[in-house]
Amino acid sequence: MEVRVSDVKKWAGREETTEIREAWPEVASSRVGYPLTDPAVIRVLVRNTGGGRLVVEIHGTLEAEAVCTRCAEPFHLSLPFEATEEFREEPGPYDENLDYGRYTGDKINLDVMVSDAAGASVPIAVLCRPDCQGLCPICGTNRNVATCACRSAIDERWTPLNSLTLSDDTRRTDH
Ligand SMILES: [Zn+2]
Ligand SMILES: [Zn+2]
Repeated sequence: MEVRVSDVKKWAGREETTEIREAWPEVASSRVGYPLTDPAVIRVLVRNTGGGRLVVEIHGTLEAEAVCTRCAEPFHLSLPFEATEEFREEPGPYDENLDYGRYTGDKINLDVMVSDAAGASVPIAVLCRPDCQGLCPICGTNRNVATCACRSAIDERWTPLNSLTLSDDTRRTDH
């Protein structure tokens, strides 16, 4: 993924906005991957701050097919992401120890910047809705759509916990 900077690099103070559409097969953080349902649309703003330095801002949204961590149902997930990075015109490979990126010529390669920002937007656990009831641990019924017979048995098993209270001595050791 590249953005042309042949014009914006000529004058300090100049700005350019571009929109890039890219059809990635999936977005993946280091731990989770989700297939994308639509091409990623990324708005790229390039600002010339002088001295061969360009500040690049990206704003994008990934539309993905995710699986609920609690009830295992697939659902649609929108993941907005954004990042800002300075690029300097100097030769050399990508170096993660620098606090800026490098470019030469008329294009900036945004692959690392975009995949870092998009990857960071992927949560480890996702719920189809905030109040998802999940699956019954005994019979596997999806509690969002049905109520099973084993529900009352589980409730009874946990009832003794409701009457548990901490003694005064235990509480004091917390402070
Ligand atoms: Zn769910
Ligand atoms: Zn059940």
